[in-house]
Amino acid sequence: MAYQGVNPYSGEKLQSFPELTDAALEQALLRADSCYRSDWRRRTVQQRAAILGRVAAVFRERKEELARLITLEMGKLIGESRWEVGLTADIFDYYARHAAAFLEPRAIEVASGSAQVESEPLGVLFGVEPWNFPYYQLVRFAAPNLAAGNVMLVKHASIIPQCALGFEKAVRDGGVPEGGYGNLFVSKKQIEAIIADPRIRGVALTGSEEAGRSVARAAGAALKKSTMELGGSDAFVVLEDADVALAVKMAVSGRFNNSGQSCVAAKRFIVAQPVAKAFLEGFTKAASALTPGDPLDGRTTLAPLSSRDALDRLVQQVDKAVAAGARVVCGGKRLEGPGTFMSPTILTDIHPGNPAFHQEFFGPVALFFPVKDEAEAIALANDSPYGLGGSVFTRDLERGKRVARQIETGMVFINQATSTAPELPFGGVKNSGYGRELSEFGIQEFINRKLIRMIGDAEKSKQEHVGG
Ligand code: NAP
Repeated sequence: MAYQGVNPYSGEKLQSFPELTDAALEQALLRADSCYRSDWRRRTVQQRAAILGRVAAVFRERKEELARLITLEMGKLIGESRWEVGLTADIFDYYARHAAAFLEPRAIEVASGSAQVESEPLGVLFGVEPWNFPYYQLVRFAAPNLAAGNVMLVKHASIIPQCALGFEKAVRDGGVPEGGYGNLFVSKKQIEAIIADPRIRGVALTGSEEAGRSVARAAGAALKKSTMELGGSDAFVVLEDADVALAVKMAVSGRFNNSGQSCVAAKRFIVAQPVAKAFLEGFTKAASALTPGDPLDGRTTLAPLSSRDALDRLVQQVDKAVAAGARVVCGGKRLEGPGTFMSPTILTDIHPGNPAFHQEFFGPVALFFPVKDEAEAIALANDSPYGLGGSVFTRDLERGKRVARQIETGMVFINQATSTAPELPFGGVKNSGYGRELSEFGIQEFINRKLIRMIGDAEKSKQEHVGG
């Protein structure tokens, strides 16, 4: 299997790259291990942070070129691609500014002598990453870990090879040495060998549940620490006291950004009866007004899906939901032509037993559920195998917080669609995975928290030996 890009708007085949040979893979592992031991871990966090600051500047200088690559290979609207490059630079900058404080030794209060915990890197990490945010997914893993002194090898999604190389080049041109960050065009079989390799000390995956299970299983078998950022079916709860116009506006961006291909997109719209009709009318009107077109044209408001496979899967999923009793409020069809477009779709009348009830729809498809009250909204929000994000709309912020606390996910936003920023921890519970990226929590995942305990001469005689 080659790493092959195909323009989802035109169907044109783009540049492709062969998979690495086992010998080339071994060279990459050697380079990474040697860089970690003899160079990167020996630099101070301030020196590493200075380099990350320069990497951020490279992303900003190359904004247009890097944004175009995203749009070409996976079809994102060019404005959203530019935003992603800017966010990627911001995340490098964030860790450049804060890593030293996050990694400060922490004193522990002890009865005698002193004790502290220091943050040491683990070594070479391995990342497996998805296509939906070609640079943002990588930076969430790369920036905190490079700042902490780890180095990394990354297998990116096979449909966006030029983005994978564009990211690697920007990181290297910013000053990360050879072996500090390496892109790998590897096969699924090679992934298992990499995870089992003793030089790899931790594994991070962002992607589907299926890929998560396979990579977590391999990491578990090799006793490697792992983090899993998997799928979601976020609830977007609108209570009867909500600002409905605001909720409609957020619903459209929350569901249709990136053509709906976001793990934390709002996917299930759970709306209290008194405002359900007004919400659905507004949402349907706004969704139906989205215009498909060339994603490089700034006027287009609906992007194609990332690939023909993704479109086929989504259309099939909608057809099955409808066959099992769901009603199409709008859309529900693929759009004819070379582009991989799905019309903005809203489905309702989805009951337990319909396969759609517990599934993630990775595209511009919203599921609409009217409910009688807050308690039913919370119960439905939690009736999901996933637990990534979610939103609550209410004019009463205390009520919003109370509801948010009862939603079983890693993130809840009040009066906002789920969003992201360098300082906000990102991650989920249940089948949405484990671990956190971004913020201070993100830098703590692949760290050896080393205890250093000291007893002075005066205290030695008083010490009793306690084992553990
Ligand atoms: P995917 O098919 O799981 O692919 C993600 C990555 O895993 C790709 O690099 C892929 O390689 C690789 N992969 C696939 N199957 C694998 C296996 N059995 N063993 C090892 N690696 C494997 O997911 P996707 O379709 O790209 O992305 C969509 C999914 O990711 C959705 O469920 C979405 O919700 C989730 N996601 C989660 C987050 C989060 O932060 N929680 C963020 C974004 C996306 P190939 O490309 O070579 O197949």
